[in-house]
Amino acid sequence: MEPARTESYHSGFVGIVGRPNVGKSTLLNYVLGEKVAITSPRPQTTRHRILGVLTREDAQIMFLDTPGLHEPQHTLGRYMLEVAKAVIEEADVLIAVIDARQRLTDADERMFARVRHTKRPAVLALNKVDVVKKPRLLPLIKQCAATNIFSDCIPVSALTGEQMPVLLARVMALLPTGPRWYEPEQRTNQTTTQLISEFIREQVLLATHEEVPHAIAVLIDQVEEREHVTAIEATIFVERPGQKAIVIGRGGALLKEIGSVARKQLERLLGRKVYLGLWVKVAPGWRSNERILRELGYAGTSS
Ligand code: GDP
Ligand code: MG
Repeated sequence: MEPARTESYHSGFVGIVGRPNVGKSTLLNYVLGEKVAITSPRPQTTRHRILGVLTREDAQIMFLDTPGLHEPQHTLGRYMLEVAKAVIEEADVLIAVIDARQRLTDADERMFARVRHTKRPAVLALNKVDVVKKPRLLPLIKQCAATNIFSDCIPVSALTGEQMPVLLARVMALLPTGPRWYEPEQRTNQTTTQLISEFIREQVLLATHEEVPHAIAVLIDQVEEREHVTAIEATIFVERPGQKAIVIGRGGALLKEIGSVARKQLERLLGRKVYLGLWVKVAPGWRSNERILRELGYAGTSS
């Protein structure tokens, strides 16, 4: 299909940036009306650059969700930081996200500095206002507006959708003119296998705590289309035997629960019945192992 190309059509890359856990992926899923990025209360849920495409009559927005800007402690962390930094440099417009429940943190301030440095048009989303008392918001909005980095500082809730149309309208206004690059049906750059892996990882993140979520990777061993069911085999990698015991749970109870919720999510994703076989394997230090990282797709800094 020829890209639609008219003087009035707008398109561009919109980078979603901010420290971990402020709601970047939730915001992306909300604007797309569909889950392309997994979310959880655990920091560093997002590891890849994730593209989400919103196609409208008058514009196509290519959102780039990013891993949170944080101090890296291993090779995977460095890769994640590189992804986030590259998006800040490459996007046409930035949506900077902060958590409106809290005061600005040092990490927020460092993100502001990076955004200022790029000189990209940027709007600020003060997220999670569904759980913030309005009077408490005003000083924070004032403080952010006073930086003069953002064309707009908009309180939103990515969870309830409050004020999200306003945010979207402001972003649209900053988009350059350009062609429609993607077919309207195409919503993300992730393959089905990647989405399957991410959906399973999300359930492990939601079911575990402390250091375990960070130690998890999910490798899809097989996806087989059978007559009435899609059969999926996947291995959950952890770093230590103790973490394996946690993920499996007493008598296998937790792994069973993870598998059962993940299977329902996958059935919704694929629109088919799913059989899901899950294994847990210990791979010591995989987050610093280049070979394993490559196998898991966390390789290169520009993909
Ligand atoms: P990311 O690390 O910035 O991508 O953050 P996520 O999108 O994974 O969200 C982190 C946590 O914050 C999840 O538990 C979300 O459900 C929650 N969250 C995100 N947006 C909102 C919001 O607008 N309101 C509330 N109450 N929670 C939110
Ligand atoms: Mg995320």
